[in-house]
Amino acid sequence: MLEVTQLVELQAVDTQLQDLNELLGDLPKKVDKLRLEEESLINAVDKGNNRLKEIELALNKAEHHMAEIKQKIDKLKDQLSLVTSNKQYDALTQEIEYLKQAMNDAELEDLELEEEKETLQNDLQEKEENLESLSEDLRIRRDRLENLIAESANKKSELEKEREEKSIHIDPSVLGRYVRIRDARDGLAVVTIDRNSCSGCGFVVPPQTVSVIRKKTLLYNCDVCSRFLYFDK
Ligand SMILES: [Zn+2]
Repeated sequence: MLEVTQLVELQAVDTQLQDLNELLGDLPKKVDKLRLEEESLINAVDKGNNRLKEIELALNKAEHHMAEIKQKIDKLKDQLSLVTSNKQYDALTQEIEYLKQAMNDAELEDLELEEEKETLQNDLQEKEENLESLSEDLRIRRDRLENLIAESANKKSELEKEREEKSIHIDPSVLGRYVRIRDARDGLAVVTIDRNSCSGCGFVVPPQTVSVIRKKTLLYNCDVCSRFLYFDK
């Protein structure tokens, strides 16, 4: 087999391997990003639910407190009808006023808690819906990734074997050059001549060189990007 044809075939295998590796590198990153989003949403929902429990307890306490105050006020009002002195009367009304103020404070606190509860419940509902769709998305991507990995693992080992078989027949110094160029040039070390230009970098190849390359008997590297050039019918 002509040396350049061997390199063309090796390049075809390497390109497939590169695509496969990119695919395998990219998908897990996307899944990781989704997983992080999911985690932070789960944390936010947990935090919200904990706060909701606190609010429920505080509301309960506030209602007990209000009931207590009301009871005290009622009791004092009953006593009010039984007092005999102005002094006693003043003392009782003063205490009732004080308790009414405490009642106002408690009612205000109760209202604020109710408002926070409502806002939090709406927020939690929205977050839980987001979480549901995100989890579903994550599950689909994970399934897809697992399928791809399984398919790709087979394909990859086949390609690696094929690469090894092809490499054996190539002169080691040429192979070394190929690998250096491939690694330096985005994985592409062998390119066609297209309309008398290197299809790797666009450099116009002189006509006499093109006819040499066309014969495929000599290896020729682009003067600008160093890639191996070949003529594809
Ligand atoms: Zn070039």
